[in-house]
Amino acid sequence: MSRFADIVLPLAQPAYTFAVGEGMEVRVGDAVAVQFGKSSVYTGIVWRLHDTPPRSGRAKPILKVLYDKPLLSELQMRFWEWIADYYICSVGEVMRVALPSAIKAKARCEEEFEPYEPKREVTVALVAEAFVGEEREKLARRAPKRYEALCAIEEAGGLLPRHKVELEASVLRALQRSGFVELGERDYQLDTEWSKTRLPRLSEAQQRAFAEIEEGLQSHSAALLQGVTSSGKTEIYTHFIEKRLSRGEDVLFLVPEISLTAQLVERMRGLFGESVTVYHSKLTPHQRTKLYTDMLSSESGNFVVGARSALFLPYKKLGLVVVDEEHDSSYKQTEPNPRYNGRDAAIMLAAMSGAKCILGSATPSLESYANALSGKYGYSLLTERYGGVELPTIRISDTVRNVKRNERKLHFNKELLDGIADRLANNEQVILFQNRRGYSPYMECPTCGFTARCPHCNVNLSAHQQKGRMVCHYCGYYEPVMRFCPNCKTEELRPMGFGTERVEEAIQKLFPEARVLRLDGDTATSSAAYNRIIGAFARHEADILVGTQIISKGLDFAGVTLIGILNGDNLLTAADFRAEERAWQLLMQVAGRAGRRDTRGEVVIQTAEPQHPIYSMIGDYNRVAAKLLAERKQFGYPPFVRIIRVTMRSGETERLVASSLRLGELLRNRFGRRVLGPVSPLIDRIRGEYRVEIMLKIEVESSFARARAILREEIERLREERDYRNITIICDVDII
Ligand code: ADP
Ligand code: ZN
Repeated sequence: MSRFADIVLPLAQPAYTFAVGEGMEVRVGDAVAVQFGKSSVYTGIVWRLHDTPPRSGRAKPILKVLYDKPLLSELQMRFWEWIADYYICSVGEVMRVALPSAIKAKARCEEEFEPYEPKREVTVALVAEAFVGEEREKLARRAPKRYEALCAIEEAGGLLPRHKVELEASVLRALQRSGFVELGERDYQLDTEWSKTRLPRLSEAQQRAFAEIEEGLQSHSAALLQGVTSSGKTEIYTHFIEKRLSRGEDVLFLVPEISLTAQLVERMRGLFGESVTVYHSKLTPHQRTKLYTDMLSSESGNFVVGARSALFLPYKKLGLVVVDEEHDSSYKQTEPNPRYNGRDAAIMLAAMSGAKCILGSATPSLESYANALSGKYGYSLLTERYGGVELPTIRISDTVRNVKRNERKLHFNKELLDGIADRLANNEQVILFQNRRGYSPYMECPTCGFTARCPHCNVNLSAHQQKGRMVCHYCGYYEPVMRFCPNCKTEELRPMGFGTERVEEAIQKLFPEARVLRLDGDTATSSAAYNRIIGAFARHEADILVGTQIISKGLDFAGVTLIGILNGDNLLTAADFRAEERAWQLLMQVAGRAGRRDTRGEVVIQTAEPQHPIYSMIGDYNRVAAKLLAERKQFGYPPFVRIIRVTMRSGETERLVASSLRLGELLRNRFGRRVLGPVSPLIDRIRGEYRVEIMLKIEVESSFARARAILREEIERLREERDYRNITIICDVDII
């Protein structure tokens, strides 16, 4: 029996050593309660058992073991370690996202941790001796429904859970009385019999893609399915999913944002039954804990649809991970640690589990696309929409020319207005896209140029008309809309630029008859609100939907024949190296929402820079990808280098600047010209804290593990030699 245990706590700290009490049985992977700090009791995970006493003083005892089986398997522990190592954080920080909060709760001593209890279910067993000969025939003639139900039990091997026997309770009791069946009880078992017949037949193009992916997965652990919107990627996934489930393996279907996937979950439940598990961070802690512990004690054969946190569930035999919309930047956790990318972690988890990973997208990330081209992943390309629906035509509308000709009204060019009038007359639907929420992104005084700014962040306040507020989109600070300029006190502040709220107001003014809905962060405040809005639009209870990015995600509106993109320019002007890739993906994704079987859809993009090369290439993925990849290569960006961004934050500027200069120097000693900065980011103050950034670019050919180790070392060195109070250092690996 080992005397000590290294225990991971949900903190940004390494594992601590605790003493294993006399006679206490502790296993690696067990959740235990331990006291840490003065009065807090934490749940920790036993990471290692050994006999070496800690160097510093006495080890506190483990208070108790919390569950009757370890919470983590060996494989899960290796996965947590990989995330901590790759994304430069502690295993304890991985624990924070990996386990439901009810399991890892910090508590006071006396508080009981909820013990795990398996669910029970009623079973119906056939009494085979009774269901023979004349009795059997009699039943077949006189009570065909009962007869069929009994046959179904017989075929299933003599036993079925109650909910699978399609008979009313009174009928079942009658069968029990006459000795045909016996009722029993057992631990609840997840449904592992997946439908085999209801999947739609794949079209010829889809079959080819299926075969290519299948072949790709024989020699690679991941494959990329690139298919235009509505080409049937989801249908293809379901065929792979069915295959794995019927072999008794676990399947994970990852989506970028779970609140946006009601349509998908419904579709999966329709195909695979009610036992599709939905797992994401918006479930209550209790629900998440229940799902986790249920899965811990179930056999394999689970089907989980989930957001990135579903990667941490206790799969027994993971066979397949599908990463839908793999290009989506919401796969990356940007705050707090671990700042991991769910897509990349999925590929790793699949590789560690001996499972396969399918990445799917209409607009793959350049990283995945490059991996597919270089033969690192399997690959298949689907270029036609299912049922021969054509992709929409794209029209570029020159805003400057419209202004010159006096044809622009409010925020709309003539081409777009004519299009909208046309569609409304035809009883068709329109989507208007603007990537800013609120009324206007800033308020300006026309006389002195004063703009209202957030007192805590270095950004403008956005006007939100309905709430009568000016709001900071970074920290949430707000104040009432200013009427008069506080600086020169002569003029009213004017709203500059436009957000979705202002678009909604303008379109209503221009088309008073039209029914307009708005979908953005202010109206879709919960998934219920979100579902209400898209539900109403899908039922054609509105003619026009105004929205932000949200509308580009996985929605399918058959009635939409026109999409207006109100300002293509501000998509392209963001200041980071992914701006163009993201703008173009967004344009294609939004465009993919238009068109139906009988009418070809149209997309109108308003821009002041119609000659920008991106517009002439929008529909041509390979051309755009080749152009962007060439630029990335030339200027040294992913996928040709890996970027780590080190952000230093503090309320005290001087100390921050001195520390960042020193860290820059330390890193330059080791990495030379691979270090950029320190520099002030575009928004250099958020929530009252100043920020400085250092970028590290590591060529893909050199050892990334070694680079991360050196970075950790140098940060440690800085910590030892500098006065470190009040400075936060954050590493973000593979920035998005
Ligand atoms: P994607 O995931 O590529 O956007 P979907 O799988 O959602 O495409 O397919 C788009 C639409 O076409 C859906 O309504 C889907 O049900 C239908 N569809 C695609 N393939 C088939 C098929 N083989 N049989 C019947 N319907 C299909
Ligand atoms: Zn702010």
